[in-house]
Order: sequence, then C-alpha cells, then structure tokens
Amino acid sequence: AKAKSRGSISIYEPEMDQQIRDRRVLHQDLSVAIRNGELSLHYQPQAMAHQTVAGSKVIGFEALARWMHPVRGFVSPGDFIPLAEESGLIVEMGEWILREACREAASWPMPLQIAVNLSPAQFMHGDVVGLVHSILLETGLAPGRLELEITEGVLIEDFDRGLALLRRLKALGVRVSMDDFGSGYSSLSYLQAFPFDKIKIDRDFVINLGRNPQSASIVRAVISLGHGLEMSIVAEGVETQEQLAFLADSGCDAVQGYFLGRPAPIGQYAALVGRNPGD
Ligand code: C2E
Ligand code: CA
Ligand code: CA
Ligand code: CA
Repeated sequence: AKAKSRGSISIYEPEMDQQIRDRRVLHQDLSVAIRNGELSLHYQPQAMAHQTVAGSKVIGFEALARWMHPVRGFVSPGDFIPLAEESGLIVEMGEWILREACREAASWPMPLQIAVNLSPAQFMHGDVVGLVHSILLETGLAPGRLELEITEGVLIEDFDRGLALLRRLKALGVRVSMDDFGSGYSSLSYLQAFPFDKIKIDRDFVINLGRNPQSASIVRAVISLGHGLEMSIVAEGVETQEQLAFLADSGCDAVQGYFLGRPAPIGQYAALVGRNPGD
C-alpha cells in the first residue's frame, strides 16, 4: 500500500519500510537474474486484421520479457522493467532481450517480423544504434525483420535526440513503431514529426470499442490519420471477435491480442514460425 494522505497530512505506514526493503532485495535478485537464466521471452502473434477472421495470417511476433524468480515465482514485466530502469540494470537486460529475440527470430524457417520493446532509458541513454547494429550482424537477422517499439513519452524528453536516433535506426533498415498510442501525452504533431513505420493503438481504446462510441471514433480517426502519413496500424489487446470485426472493417492493418494468441514460449507457436513441433 502507498502512504495515504488526507488533505495535507500524510499518515505514515510501517509497511512502507518493508516495501523499501523488498525493493532492495528484489533489485539484488534482478541483477543476477540474467546470469541465473531466470529471464526468458514469451512471444505473442500479430496477424493481418482482414484475414484473421477466416484463418489467421500471422505476420510476426512481439517479444515480451518474463522473470521467473526462484522464490517469488513469476514477476510481471510491468514491475521489473521499471525497477531495472531505475537501477541502470536495464542496459544489460535490454541487451540480453534484444539479442535473444533476434537470435530466436533468425532461427525461424519463416521470415516473420520480430518486435522488441525498447525502454525509455535504453533508448535515451544507451548506445542503442550501435547495439542494434552489432546484434543484427551477430545474429544474421535481416534488418527489415526487426521492429523496435518505443513509447512516445520517450521522445518528449529530448525531441532532437529522439528524432536523430529514430533516423539512425531507420538507416540501419529496421522499423520503428510508436507503442501504446493514445495512452500518454499523445500528440498528433508527434506522428508527423517522427518517422514511425507503425502505430500501435493502445489496448484501452480497444477494450472500450463496444462500450463507448467515442472509442470507435478515435480508433477510426487514428487509422485514417496513420494511413495518411503512410504508417501501418496495429491494434493491441484484441480479445473478441467483435473487436476484430470492427477493426478489420475500419481498415486497421494488423491485430494482436488474446483472441489471436497469448504471449507464450515460442515452442507453442512452432508451426507458425515454420518449425516442426518438437524440433
Ligand atoms: P506492452 O508493450 O504494451 O505489451 C503488451 C502487453 O499487453 C503485454 O503485457 C501483453 O501480455 C498484454 N496483452 C497482449 N494481448 C492482450 C489482450 O488481449 N488482453 C490483455 N488484457 N492483455 C494483453 P506484459 O507482457 O505483461 O508486458 C507489460 C509491459 O511491460 C509491456 O507493455 C511493455 O511495456 C513492458 N515490457 C514487456 N516486455 C518488455 C521488454 O522486453 N522490454 C521492455 N523495455 N519492456 C517490456
Ligand atoms: Ca510493446
Ligand atoms: Ca503496447
Ligand atoms: Ca499497452
């Protein structure tokens, strides 16, 4: 629990001490997690929106980090990625994630896309261009198959640096997508200013598709705006047939979500990547 405040008076809760100790321990654990092989990647399929109704046409996967802690069990990336960012561990961890995802994708018989999340700290403070370049060489993955997902918040911090980095990444031949579009300080001018290849519409809009008419209008507007800027549109968090049908009707290019498949170890998607199950 967080400290509760009533008006301007904060009520101290002893459990906060425990929380701080917890974080410290978790942080120590995280620093050995890579070495101990506790980190792994799950993969979630993305498919063409209009063909998914009939039979899914998978175009690629998003890699999502997982941490299996020896005592606590599964720790969510929503919890450990921010922790890794604060402590600087994200540099080492992000490098591991990128290498692992590229190595995996390079081994698939089918030349599908692989999308990897870049955290803000990784993007703004590391040598992300040098890293991507060397991992592509090392793994032999065709640059055109790699897609880097960046949240727009990152770019607000330093517009010039953000723009320069995106251009240099694109010069390597990789694609960049704007993740969680609509969830933060989304500004339409960002879409025009930055050379994204793809927009990922945040799950919040998709959840609300059947519930409020505004979400449907916003989704349609984002799709048409994105297309006008020659970007392709992916909707995330698609859980139902109705959501999929609406998105396909509205011209959304691709979809990702539980309706299609949950994030899972790649073995579960062996047939989709062109491997014989059990290989
Ligand atoms: P994200 O990039 O927006 O990833 C999508 C999240 O939505 C994933 O959560 C995924 O499991 C979940 N999801 C996908 N489809 C559905 C659906 O149909 N319904 C619902 N309810 N959820 C769905 P996950 O894997 O827990 O990751 C959470 C966040 O943690 C990610 O959000 C991303 O911001 C971050 N993250 C995950 N892996 C990495 C990584 O390797 N590097 C970095 N920097 N961040 C990561
Ligand atoms: Ca993402
Ligand atoms: Ca997302
Ligand atoms: Ca999201």
